Amino acid sequence: MPTFIRPPCLVNTHMDETFVRLVCPECTKEWQRQPGGLPASDRTFQCPNCQTGRQMAEFTRTEHDLRTLQTLG
Ligand SMILES: [Zn+2]
Repeated sequence: MPTFIRPPCLVNTHMDETFVRLVCPECTKEWQRQPGGLPASDRTFQCPNCQTGRQMAEFTRTEHDLRTLQTLG
């Protein structure tokens, strides 16, 4: 199974509490992650709850969350 997590050196180090809000299109699990810990929006991501693999962009809850991921991820 491929690893999708980026190295932690890419995470912002200042006190910015920016999170990307996520929701699984299959099981509707809702959670949030810092964008530095997520893959790019066009990469495959696996739901931690139901293990469904979808494109990362399909997990972002709103257009704003997608932009946050693309800008800071
Ligand atoms: Zn799920």
